[in-house]
Amino acid sequence: MQFIEALRLRSKLFFLFFLITVGLFSIGIMGAININDMKKNLDGLYFGSLVPVTELNEMLQTYHNGLASTLYRVKNNQISVQETSSELEYSLTKINKLWKSYESHFKRDEELQYVEYVALEIKVVNRYFLKLLRVARSGRDMSAISIGSLEKYVSHIHTVLQKLIHYEVKMARYDRKKFLQIYDMAILKLGIILGLIILAILIISYSVFSSIQSDQTRLEIVTKKLRKLNKKLENVSYTDSLTGMHNRRYFNMVYERELKRARRTHSHITFMMLDIDYFKQYNDTYGHIQGDNALQAVAKVLVNTLQRPSDFVFRLGGEEFGALITQTDESNSAKLARDIGDAIREQKIEHSGSTVNNFLTISIGVVCCIADDALNEDILISRADEMLYEAKDTGRDRYIITSNVSESTTHHVADLTA
Ligand code: GH3
Ligand code: MG
Ligand code: MG
Repeated sequence: MQFIEALRLRSKLFFLFFLITVGLFSIGIMGAININDMKKNLDGLYFGSLVPVTELNEMLQTYHNGLASTLYRVKNNQISVQETSSELEYSLTKINKLWKSYESHFKRDEELQYVEYVALEIKVVNRYFLKLLRVARSGRDMSAISIGSLEKYVSHIHTVLQKLIHYEVKMARYDRKKFLQIYDMAILKLGIILGLIILAILIISYSVFSSIQSDQTRLEIVTKKLRKLNKKLENVSYTDSLTGMHNRRYFNMVYERELKRARRTHSHITFMMLDIDYFKQYNDTYGHIQGDNALQAVAKVLVNTLQRPSDFVFRLGGEEFGALITQTDESNSAKLARDIGDAIREQKIEHSGSTVNNFLTISIGVVCCIADDALNEDILISRADEMLYEAKDTGRDRYIITSNVSESTTHHVADLTA
């Protein structure tokens, strides 16, 4: 059954279809052969037994009614000699014809000897009747026929033919019994073959279907694994490898989604752009690895400060981070920006290259507004960028927040250290 396992699904079904077709075809052929045999047997039984018996009976009847009875009647002057002549001639011809026909049928070996004997006896008896026919033809008186001789011949041929009839009847019974046995055997054989074919089809069908089932199970397992792997891959593609936080790719997706949601509900949306101050100097002073550690520390602060399910933080690239905050008004957004700045300063990451603090600091540009249909995707980002640059320009380590997304004047500057 390993061969079935190795087949592809379509081949498996084709194999099953082929098997069932072959099975049905074999059953059909077997049935046809058996029915044909049965027909032969039935034919043999009918013509081999019934017809010979009928012929022998007819011969016997002719001896009695055609020959003997005619001779009785002529002896008693009931019929004329001419009538007797034609009746005898007709009956003898009939008897010869019937015997010839009987002899032409199939004969068993054990039967042949007796049939030859009967043929001889018929010849002898017919010779006696031929003699009488010749007398009748000559027109002589027939009343002197010896009844004794007539009875002797008729009774002799009666005994001989009757014995043959008995034998034929016995054979017919034997043939019938044999035919019934053959019939029963044929039914049994057909039943066994049918059973075996059905069993084979069932066994093979079972293994084909269980093989299909295991294929399907395997496929389901592989699909599940693939789905998991895809999810993992998707997560990887959305994750920044250094900090473990979401990356710009994920930001693009979430940004679009959350902006649409805010526009729909006309609710607050805040976008923050965060940039570490003098990070180039930091790298130069402490080395790139230390720089990476600092990036991880800042990421951790962002993740811990913005913990609500409606807050999203990202590493947008380099030492630049982004935060998308929903359903939060301007004052709360400003508080969050302040909290972030405080939390980073509290990390006390030494930064001797900074001119604004002894420790690592961050500048933040914030835009907070109620989203309306006019608010487009780029404006929030560019305004946050502008605010960030302003924060840098005005001394760093601070946040600048604005709620005006169209004009670059209305905004609130806050020194984080204040
Ligand atoms: P500013 O206060 O104006 O922002 O000055 P800055 O030095 O931070 O600005 P700038 O953009 O010139 O420098 C950013 C630096 O961040 C340059 C780059 O070496 C560093 N940086 C960017 N990505 C990484 C990183 O993955 N790891 C480390 N260690 N440093 C990075
Ligand atoms: Mg930068
Ligand atoms: Mg910087």
